[in-house]
Amino acid sequence: MARNQLIHELKQSGITHPAVLNAIASVPRENFVLSKLKDKAYDNVALPIDKEQTISQPYVVALMTQALFNHPHPQKILEIGTGSGYQAAILATIFKEIWTIERIEALYIKAKHTLQKLNYTNVHCTWADGNKGWLEHAPYDGIIVTAATATIPPALLEQLSPQGGILVIPLGATHEVQKLTLIKRQDNHYEKSVLELVSFVPLRSNTD
Ligand code: SAH
Repeated sequence: MARNQLIHELKQSGITHPAVLNAIASVPRENFVLSKLKDKAYDNVALPIDKEQTISQPYVVALMTQALFNHPHPQKILEIGTGSGYQAAILATIFKEIWTIERIEALYIKAKHTLQKLNYTNVHCTWADGNKGWLEHAPYDGIIVTAATATIPPALLEQLSPQGGILVIPLGATHEVQKLTLIKRQDNHYEKSVLELVSFVPLRSNTD
């Protein structure tokens, strides 16, 4: 019931891609939220997780995922800010191979465990500073940054595929409203557009 209501709300907010709607309908968000908040798992809101971080609002997860389809054939995706692992699970349901980076060790361990338990075998987790990207598996068709920053980390631009690579990133001062920005790379040309106003926790500059 709650899931159907959420899907209905997302459609009304402009989420139209069937793969994205199917992923939201199939990933059990209750496994990614704190046990005391399970009854709110399908509310269209961000919720607190451990270490003063948050699991993003389903609408924002869906919007960022849908934006990746601006690439002609997205397969390899990098996420910065694993958090609960929910966004990674959504990506794993749709795309071929997912790499995700978290700077807080306890969150990395918990998310990795949740993703393994639910059998998302195409997600690769690491504990590191996402500002540096993950060079080993680059280039990526898409990179999603789920934490806010005033400036785009140069490594992320470098690790985007020169053939239509898409970066989705909340740009702006932290703890305020940021502009969810889409950047499309063609060779060494980067085209920018703003998708939505959002509010993310800050992208920090090292591991804990
Ligand atoms: N995508 C998550 C929501 C993440 S909240 C989900 O679906 O649940 C943002 C996360 O980014 C936090 O867990 C925070 O610790 C992490 N983070 C902040 N700075 C980072 C950095 N430099 N590298 C990697 N992760 C970072």
